Order: sequence, then C-alpha cells, then structure tokens
Amino acid sequence: MRFRRLLRPRVILALLAVCLLAFLGRPAFHLGRTALHDRDTREPVPTGYVDDASRLNQTRVKEVWDIPTDPVTAERQLAALLRRAKAEKLPVSIAGARHSMGGHTVAPDGIVINMLPFKAAKLDPETNILHVQAGARWVDIIPYLDRHGRSVAVMQSNNTFSVGGSISVNAHGWQHNTPPIASTVEAFRLLRDDGSIIRCSRTENAELFSLVLGGYGLFGVILDVDLRVVPDVRYRLGHFVIPSERYVDLYEWEVNRRSDVGMVFGRLDVTPDNFLREATLNVFYHDPGGEIPPLTPAQFEKIRRTVFRGTVGSDYGKELRWDLEKRLASAIEGRAFSRNQLSNEGIEAFENRTAKSTDILHEYFVPPSRLAAFLERLRVIIPEHQGDLLNVTIRNVHTDTDSFLRYADQEVFGLVMLFNQERTPQGEKAMKAMTQALIDAALEEGGTYYLPYRLHASPEQFARAYPQGREFFERKRAYDPDELFQNEFYRTYGRP
Ligand SMILES: Cc1cc2nc3c(=O)[nH]c(=O)nc-3n(C[C@H](O)[C@H](O)[C@H](O)COP(=O)(O)OP(=O)(O)OC[C@H]3O[C@@H](n4cnc5c(N)ncnc54)[C@H](O)[C@@H]3O)c2cc1C
Repeated sequence: MRFRRLLRPRVILALLAVCLLAFLGRPAFHLGRTALHDRDTREPVPTGYVDDASRLNQTRVKEVWDIPTDPVTAERQLAALLRRAKAEKLPVSIAGARHSMGGHTVAPDGIVINMLPFKAAKLDPETNILHVQAGARWVDIIPYLDRHGRSVAVMQSNNTFSVGGSISVNAHGWQHNTPPIASTVEAFRLLRDDGSIIRCSRTENAELFSLVLGGYGLFGVILDVDLRVVPDVRYRLGHFVIPSERYVDLYEWEVNRRSDVGMVFGRLDVTPDNFLREATLNVFYHDPGGEIPPLTPAQFEKIRRTVFRGTVGSDYGKELRWDLEKRLASAIEGRAFSRNQLSNEGIEAFENRTAKSTDILHEYFVPPSRLAAFLERLRVIIPEHQGDLLNVTIRNVHTDTDSFLRYADQEVFGLVMLFNQERTPQGEKAMKAMTQALIDAALEEGGTYYLPYRLHASPEQFARAYPQGREFFERKRAYDPDELFQNEFYRTYGRP
C-alpha cells in the first residue's frame, strides 16, 4: 500500500525535483554566487600615472603622448618628440595594449608613446603580405583579414594585443608547426633615437631586425610591419583526455605524424586532488569539405566568464570548470570552426576586474623530453607556495632563428600558467618566491621562462635563462647611446 503511494505521479515528480536540485543545486549556487560578486571594482589610474595589465606597476610619468593617426604627421611629430626628450633628458617608453606585466611599457618620470591610434592596415593579395601600422590590434586586424579570406599566421591565444607589442615580445600561439611571430615578419620600419627612419628585414639592417624582434621597445619605435598572412580555413575539433605524462607521446602520434593539423593546444587539470595529472589535447584538423563558418561575436561569454571566475580560491570551482570543459569539448568534437573564429577570442571571458586581486601570467618553456619531469616539479613547487593556479595551457613552439634574445632556441613546449594574486606586499612577496622557484625548475630541466611578465627573476636567473642577454644590452647601448628608450625591463636587467 505504502509502496503504491510512492508510485503516484506527484510523489515521483517531487522525488525527481529533489534529485535534480541535489544534482544542480551546488553548481547553480556556486555559479550564482560568483556571478553576483563579479563586479568591476578596479580603481582608475590617477592622472599623471600609468600602469599595465598587472595593475601592480602604477608609475608617475611626465607625459603620455598619443601618436597621430596620419602617418606623415605621426613621423614628423614623433621625431620632434624624441628631439625634445633627448634635450630634456627624459626617458621614452613605448606602449601598445600594455598587456605586458613588468613595467615593460613604463619608464618613471618619462614620456610614454601610446601607439594604439596608429592602426591602419592594407593587404597585398598577390604576395599575402599585410602592411600594418604597429598600433593595430588583432581585434582590428582579424575582421579585416576575414573579409579577404586571410588569417594571421602566428599570434597569441587572444586578440587584445597590438602588432608592435606582439613582435617586440616575439609572441607565439597555438598555430601548429610554427616558430614565434618573428618568423612571419618580412620587414618593418623603425624610428631610431636620432629621428631617422630605417627599414629592417633579413637583408636590410639585419642585425637591428633580429634585435628589435623580441627587443622590448629598446631600439626605437616600430612604425609599421610587413606581416606574412595565411588563408583562412575551416577546421574540425578533435579532443583527447589523457594522463599528463602521456602528453608528449600523444602529441607525437596525433599531431606531429599527421599533415592535416592547423592549430593545437593542451590544458592541464588544476584541481587539487588531481593536480596537473590529467591533460586535454585539443587538435584542429583541416576540414576542407564545406563552407568556412562566418566570423561571429564570441558566444556564451557571460557563462564562460562565470565558470572561470568561479575557480578563484575555490577547489570546487576548479573541479566544476574542468568537468564542464571536458564535457563541452566532447559535445562539440567534430564541429567546424574557422581559423579566424578561433583566433578572435578576447580576454573578457576571464580577465580579473576586482580591486583586491590580480591575475598574473607565467610561461615556462621546456624541451619535449623534459615536459613530464617539469610537471613533477610543478606538482611540488606550486602547492608548497600555495599558488592559486587558475589555468594552464600547453603549446608547442618551433625553433626561432630570427630574434636575438631568444626563448625558443630549440623546439619547446610552453606552459602558460595564470595565477591569482592579492594586490598586497605579501601577495607580491609570495609570488616572487614561487616565480624564482619555478624559474630554477625550468632551468634545471633545460628550459627557460618568458620575459613579458613580472620581473621577479633575479639578475642571475635572467643571465642563465638568456645567455645572449649581456650582448643584447650592449648592442642596445651601441644603437641608442643616450639610453633614450627605457622601461622597467631594461632598468632591472639591462643596466651595466
Ligand atoms: C591575458 C594574456 C594572454 C597572453 N597570451 C599570450 C600568448 O598566448 N602568447 C604569447 O606569446 N604571449 C601572450 N601574452 C603576452 C603578450 O603577448 C605580451 O604581453 C604582448 O606584449 C602584449 O602586446 P601589447 O600590445 O599589450 O604589448 P605592450 O605590453 O604594450 O608592449 C610590450 C613591449 O613591446 C614594446 N612595444 C610595443 N609597441 C611597440 C612599438 N610600436 N615599437 C617598439 N616597441 C613596442 C613595449 O615597449 C614593451 O616593451 C599574454 C598576455 C596576457 C596579459
């Protein structure tokens, strides 16, 4: 009798509702609470000061000078600006989108050149060369190239950055089988400290060409760039979940042995119980058998953002994100994407907008044969320092033969890690200690670290990681004897 009563539809419905609530209740509560707290509480930078993406580099400057958009006016006024800076002994720093994080765009009490207004672009469809001004950002360039059926050959995983900033750090991304972006630069024009403008390429002013690529704005102002572009194509996604120590083997099998791979990235599990033990490999295969999907605005940004921001300081949030991302990737496996769509992601879906904390990037490069050993070290170092690791992506970078200050002088895997950090002296101290331990680990595994982030490496670590560094800075002073072009990177590692 009692059992029969239990089978009544209303009771069954109620039981189902309880089960559903138990199943969805926690994620719903967690995401709801994250969304509720996700407000922009960042303070504006006071007049007379500048900062960068770290929000830890607020510095007083004499002037921020916006470059005019018209090239003739820009060149004339820029040369006059440099003459004035020299006469008044003011250091000059150069800024693109300011997403470097170590004051690379800042010199205290100096003049900051804001390159962003300088952003015109013109494609030569015969040669596949994009002639682009250095302040243009990928978010401007991708829709333009899309209209011409072209795509950026090598760029970062987001579209926020400027061309000048990208080639000055020699960025890389998840385009398969490629060295860093320098390999796609045919030539650029450089405004030097004496106001002269020269063209640099592999055959003209070749030494400056290699110094300026990855040269952190220390040799002059890059005005415009001839960038080799590629056709936009259609890809289909393949998704694999594997133990992280098998990453390199699977990469060899599923990526290197195939000829139809266009883009690829890996991701690591950051949940504490399975820390860096599971990986996903996401491979985009060429899929020429259909229309290239049109470029559309980013989708589901709000929910993706909430899932991501919900990982800060939360083990549960990290588990939820890892689980949802694997499910989502399996669900969209086989779906077609355009190369341009994949390249056109902003940072809105993850950027930290709170006054209290900031998110700091790190990147370490190790040879493929040392990836598993490096991961072993990370599993110890990061928890030891209580680093709140939000995300790790893995990319493959081929040998760079173009830039002077190289991070990829062999084929490497880059591990890009995003940490959350309090904006306090204690937060800074803890991050510095962890960064130095991570750099030592990378060096011991035959690798190195990436330079556009916090300047936490000791000068000795910098010298070990970049043996060309000393000569690089000597060449800087040879080309710019008055040390007109300066920034915190130079002041930290470059001064004799
Ligand atoms: C969220 C995020 C994701 C990232 N992802 C990646 C990634 O996937 N791959 C990667 O390689 N990097 C990545 N980075 C690092 C990024 O590529 C660099 O910080 C890059 O410099 C950003 O470009 P920007 O326009 O902001 O440069 P800025 O920070 O403005 O400038 C960087 C350097 O370039 C110099 N510079 C800028 N413009 C010129 C110019 N016209 N002439 C001479 N010098 C100039 C500046 O003086 C400075 O030293 C990422 C950074 C962030 C914050």
